Amino acid sequence: MLKLNDPALLETRAYVNGHWIENGSSFPVLNPATGEKIADVTDLGVEDVARAIDGAYDAKASWAAKTGKERGAILRKWHDLMLENIDDLAIILTAEMGKPLTEAKGEIMYGASYVEWFAEEAKRIYGDVIPGHQPDKRIVVMKQPVGVVGSITPWNFPNAMIARKVAPALAVGCTFIARPAELTPLSALAMAVLGERAGIPKGVFSVIPSSNASAIGKELCANTKVAKITFTGSTRVGKILMEQGAATVKKVSMELGGNAPFIVFDDADVDAAVEGALIAKYRNAGQTCVCANRIYVQSGVYKEFSKKLAERVSALSVGDGFEDGVAIGPLINEAALSKVEAHLSDAIAKGAEIVTGGCRHARGGTFFEPTVITGVTRGMQVQHEETFGPIAPLFEFETEEEAVELANDTEFGLAGYFYAKDISRVWRVAERLETGMVGINTGLISTEVAPFGGIKQSGQGREGSKYGADDYLELKYMCFGEI
Ligand code: ADP
Repeated sequence: MLKLNDPALLETRAYVNGHWIENGSSFPVLNPATGEKIADVTDLGVEDVARAIDGAYDAKASWAAKTGKERGAILRKWHDLMLENIDDLAIILTAEMGKPLTEAKGEIMYGASYVEWFAEEAKRIYGDVIPGHQPDKRIVVMKQPVGVVGSITPWNFPNAMIARKVAPALAVGCTFIARPAELTPLSALAMAVLGERAGIPKGVFSVIPSSNASAIGKELCANTKVAKITFTGSTRVGKILMEQGAATVKKVSMELGGNAPFIVFDDADVDAAVEGALIAKYRNAGQTCVCANRIYVQSGVYKEFSKKLAERVSALSVGDGFEDGVAIGPLINEAALSKVEAHLSDAIAKGAEIVTGGCRHARGGTFFEPTVITGVTRGMQVQHEETFGPIAPLFEFETEEEAVELANDTEFGLAGYFYAKDISRVWRVAERLETGMVGINTGLISTEVAPFGGIKQSGQGREGSKYGADDYLELKYMCFGEI
């Protein structure tokens, strides 16, 4: 049993239309570090989801009719409650997802920062006045909420992936149904407990745990009361949802897979690049969609960079996220571990060499040693697929042209990183990288004040920043005649 200051935050019932419900079926939530069961969570079916959609639909007019200031005040309260309960929320998150407790606290702060940001933005949903096209005409553009939003999110950020979506949606007057990943529903339910305490009205925010992702996805896409689907997850599932949503012309926001390049040029500060790579690669045990997946190092600094990175990586401590000083927790499940092993053995078979790590960790379970491999080349799986684990594959390159070409040789385009000092090169490379986000001399780019999102098959739409509200708004133009 988890030791919480407020045990009520460990909620296992679904939250539908302002009610905590059970339906006789449940699914277990396991701790990936120990394999132990944390809780049994209510397993909703399609009929329950349809009810949640009805509730969200009925609630939308009165929620949208509130002033931005009123909605913002509720969101602000929700943000404050998240921070007041950060210790408990982090414990729940580490227990169900495995990341080190300090990272879990970081995630709660990160998630809460979106709620705070959009609490503030709620008052600033401005329209436009356009000079008329005829002498007696006046044109006004207003922005209105899209309506009911259905959300599907992954397990790697059980709090923040939902916060990044629900905050802008509620701020502008949409109502919202969250279907959390089946591996990590407890953080979402804890958010709902606090949302209810913050005064979010009935039906405005529902959390619908279910073990049947595809049935829920189908219902959210098919139901005509849902205006928009917002999804974070794999490109494969994103495409399924876009196809399913086409039948009812759903609006979509898609935050899909990445395959981030991380380039270190000869003129980089190598020590800083090593620090950046550590963060960009090993955060969350390599399980983030903006994790550096391919590390390209120019020949002049290749040896120095690999040696220094390997030294730092071999010192990272692996363990249960609740243990002090742990930097790398378990991988989420056996399938994740198998993918890491497959990418590694493919690279080794094709000539790469292990500098540090390379094996399942002695602790067993789904723990894997943080790994660095050198001599990586284009034909290997790691060039084309997201590994989602703690392996840093180091490619060597000669010219800037070659680095950019290699970096862009992927259908994905979420994040890219590079380290360089020459200002002309910085501009050239930043402009040419085919990604929605570029970290220049930094390995950490996520913040609520900037637009997060990808291009190519990494998705569409942006989360956070002054642009983030637009994903949940429609433009309406009014033409006034006979003036
Ligand atoms: P990940 O590799 O991060 O698990 P997925 O795309 O498989 O990425 O999963 C992201 C979310 O999408 C999870 O909550 C998962 O349950 C859900 N999901 C998986 N398949 C479907 C589907 N066919 N329809 C709707 N949601 C799905």
